[in-house]
This record gives sequence, C-alpha cells and structure tokens, in this order.
Amino acid sequence: MAKYDIVIIGSGLGGLECAYILSKEGYKVLILEKNRQLGGSLQIFVRDKAIFDTGIHYIGGLDEGQNLNQCFKYFGIMDKLHLIKMDMNGFDIISFSDDEHEYSHAQGYDNFVEQLAKDFPHQREELKNYTKLIQEVCNYFPLYQLREDDAPILGTKYLDVNARDFIASVTSDKRLQSVLGGSNPLYAGDGIKTPLYVHALVVNTYIESAYKCVDGGAQIERLLTKQIKENGGEIRNYAEVTKIVEKNGVVTHIELKDGEHIEGKNFISNIHPATTMEMLETTTIKNAYRNRLLGLENCASAFIVDIVLKPNSFKYINQNYYHYRRNDVWTGINYTGEQSPDMFCAFIPKSTKGGEYADSMTILTYMKFEEVKQWENTYVTVPKHKDSRGELYEDFKQKQTEKILDLVEQKIPAIRSLIKSYTTSTPLTYRDYIGAKDGGVYGIAKDYRDPLKTFISPTTKIPNLFFTGQNLNMHGVLGVTVGAIRTCGVFLGQNYLLRKINKA
Ligand SMILES: Cc1cc2nc3c(=O)[nH]c(=O)nc-3n(C[C@H](O)[C@H](O)[C@H](O)COP(=O)(O)OP(=O)(O)OC[C@H]3O[C@@H](n4cnc5c(N)ncnc54)[C@H](O)[C@@H]3O)c2cc1C
Repeated sequence: MAKYDIVIIGSGLGGLECAYILSKEGYKVLILEKNRQLGGSLQIFVRDKAIFDTGIHYIGGLDEGQNLNQCFKYFGIMDKLHLIKMDMNGFDIISFSDDEHEYSHAQGYDNFVEQLAKDFPHQREELKNYTKLIQEVCNYFPLYQLREDDAPILGTKYLDVNARDFIASVTSDKRLQSVLGGSNPLYAGDGIKTPLYVHALVVNTYIESAYKCVDGGAQIERLLTKQIKENGGEIRNYAEVTKIVEKNGVVTHIELKDGEHIEGKNFISNIHPATTMEMLETTTIKNAYRNRLLGLENCASAFIVDIVLKPNSFKYINQNYYHYRRNDVWTGINYTGEQSPDMFCAFIPKSTKGGEYADSMTILTYMKFEEVKQWENTYVTVPKHKDSRGELYEDFKQKQTEKILDLVEQKIPAIRSLIKSYTTSTPLTYRDYIGAKDGGVYGIAKDYRDPLKTFISPTTKIPNLFFTGQNLNMHGVLGVTVGAIRTCGVFLGQNYLLRKINKA
C-alpha cells in the first residue's frame, strides 16, 4: 500500500499550493524538490549582502477583497507577509529613447485613466473604454474572480484576439498604444502571438493593486512550507525525479536520481509538461498526446543583470521602469545579437536594511535560448563555479551586460558609477536552477491564432497523473494560484474548494 496519497514533483509555487490545499484536506502529501532551496522561481539569492529575487518582482491583487488576498488568507499567509505597496500614481513607468517624458501606470482603474489622461488629454474616452474592456475580458475568466461558475475554465470570448491589435483598435494614438502595452515583458508579449486575455489578466491584477515583497518573495515559500508541515505534509530537497513509471495504465512510482523508488496513489507534476512526458515510461499514452506536449513552443527567456549598488548611492524608488529604444513595444522579444537589447525593465528590490537608499537593482532584457546554445551541454548548479561554462561564456555575458548598461544610461546616466558588483543570468541559468524548458521564463507561449493548442488540462491521459504550475493556466503568482485551484479541484470539487477559499 503506497504511503503517500499525493506525490508532488517540484516545489515551485504551484507544487507548494497544491500540497497546502490537499494536506489541509487530509491527504498524505510528499513534495520532491531537486534543488537545496525550495520554491523554484520564488527563490532568492544573496550577493554582497544584497537580496535578489529570481522571479517575484511585484505582485498584484493583494488589497483587501481582491482575489490573491483572499487566496493568501486561505493559505494562512496573508497577515504574515512583509509587503510594501507600490506608488499609487505610477507603479510602472514606461519610457522611450526619443521622449524624455515618463508615462505612468497607476493603481485603481479610475486613477489609471486619470494619470494617463494628463499625458493624453484628448484620449480620455479611449482610456475609459480600454479599462472597461480589460475588465470585461477578465470577467470571462470566472476562476480569476474566485467565482463558482459552470462556465468553461477558459473564457469563451476573446480567446482568439491579438493583444496588440486590440489596443490599436481602442486608440489610434501610437504613443498611447505603446504605453498601454508597455509592461508586456511581464508576460513576454509578442506582437505576432500574444492573446488579449493574457494582457488583460496580467495588467488587471496590477491595476487593482501592486505590491513588492520586502526582502524578497521567498517568504511566500517559507510560510507555505511551514503550513504544509503543520498539516502533516512532507518535503524533501535534493530529490531529483528522473523517471515516472506507469504500469497497467496507472503511475505506480517515481524514481529519483539516486535510484530510490517512491510509490504514491497520485502524482502531481509541478514541472514543465514536456519534461514530464520525457520522464514518463508509459505504454498508455499515445504519441499524439505526448508529441503535442513536447512540441509546444516556450516563451522567450531573459538575460538579467543583478546589480549590487554602492551604499547610499541610489535613492530607493517604489516603481518599476520599462524603457524602449523604439515606439513599438511588441518587437523587443525578437531582437538578438548585436541588435539586442531593444528594451529593458528595472526592478528595485525593497530591503528592510536599505532605508531611503536601494541596495540593489535588477535589470531584465530578453534573450533567446539560441544565443547561448553553444553552451547548452554545460550545467552549473553551484554558484561558486562561476566560470565552469568557460571563458567564452563569461566574455559573452560581459559584452551583453555592457550593451544593456549603455541602454540603461538613457534612464539612469550615472548607472555605471553606482555599481559595486553585479551578477548575470542567462537562459541556461533558468534551465539549470528552475528546470525551465529552453530557459523560457514563463513556460509555454500562448498564441491567439490557436488558443486551444496551448490549453493544458490538469488531468492527463493517465488517471493518477496531474499537472500544476505556470504551464497550466498562466504564469505569475496569480496565474499559478488559479492553476493550483484547478488541479486540486479535480480531487476536491472546484466549487467546494472555492467556497472554502471565499470563506477564509
Ligand atoms: C525572471 C522572472 C521574473 C518573474 N517576475 C514575476 C513577477 O514580478 N511577478 C509574478 O507574479 N511572477 C513573476 N514571474 C513568474 C513566476 O515567478 C512563476 O510563474 C512562478 O513562480 C512559477 O511557479 P511554478 O509553480 O510553475 O514552479 P517553478 O517556479 O517553475 O518551479 C518548479 C520547481 O520544480 C523543480 N524541479 C524541476 N525539475 C525537477 C525534477 N526533475 N525533480 C524535482 N524537482 C524538479 C525546480 O527546481 C523548481 O523548484 C517571474 C518569473 C521569472 C523567471
């Protein structure tokens, strides 16, 4: 008889949330994590005493009465999080090389319109219409509002609308179009593919409210882990799953890298569906299903420069920067080599010790996996072995950093003189530390031209194997949380679970 009701592969946010929900409902749960640190993209790391986030720079929907606030109350962590609310009148600042003006995305829908109408007074009605339509699109996704609803999980309307075209249909002002789409690196926005619903669900959560985690997002992992253990759940790190073994149509056990077998009644994969398929030894799953998952395209990856700032050199700002070389904000994802970067985002972490000055800054640009492909057979999981991918790789990262700093100088002219030290990450970093397929930071890329192709169900063709995590629904703290509700809804009944969450 298997000891565990639920074995979860990966301790990313989705794995932790499923473990919490199911252990709270009496299931015997085990999480297996390949790394020492739990949390996947929730992990933080420290350089020169400054804390850096891997993948949680800011979070939306955390005001009282909003969706993520309610979920976090249910998880028992809302009142324990150390958060700072971002600038009400401009949590995101959008800017362009040919224009000294900064354009603000403000919190609260009316305020969002008000602030942008100062820059675009002739576009007030268009702005109102934009915010109305964004909310209408979100309304077609009931789970995002924690609504009990028999409607299909994916909204039936707006699935096949392109985000860039939609914005262009709302306003003919080219600069305003770019300002409205200017935070699209939050979802690796691609003018050719990105669906409107992805844009709408992401911008909606931040317009509702925008917060940073003080001293990093790993606090979410720590708090969830504590609750899971209190519920009787078990978590093992350094436990890399290498095989999922099926016999007679059900998964019987998984195998770890060291050969250990772990049996379970049900298995939830919090890792990429394609990687899950690669690990699965099965005679049940047809090639068509497997190949569909293996063939899905992943969104772009990133090149990140994490800068430790000299003490008291740069005043903390409670905003993020999105800066573009050109007016078209939907093409940056496709620039490579000498042309890149075409844009950058800057996130300023908030630390308890920093006071009025910032300790650090994270600069993010896009990078495609092909740019680091020549090093794809090198693997680094110990930060100390800095140059183990070779000198050429170090040289490549340094050149890329210099190009990024040239662009950052347009916004922060003194940037080079503020740097105490820096560290960089590439698509290979995300592949090796989080297990991100092709280093794609947000998982499977959505495409409005074939929306159902990228629809991943939490259930698979094997009745006791399930998916959760950012590839299921959407990425981001909210997207992954909604995904966990879907996965656990299969076990508990979705409306039962929603009622529990709404009553928390
Ligand atoms: C650079 C970056 C910036 C981001 N910024 C934001 C932001 O500001 N706000 C926001 O809301 N979201 C942001 N995100 C997205 C968000 O962080 C992710 O969508 C979310 O954390 C993913 O959660 P997940 O459950 O899919 O698991 P993941 O984080 O993908 O974790 C998967 C886990 O599985 C483990 N694993 C992999 N393979 C195995 C194996 N074989 N055996 C055992 N364990 C395994 C990994 O080590 C990892 O711990 C960002 C992401 C990135 C990368």
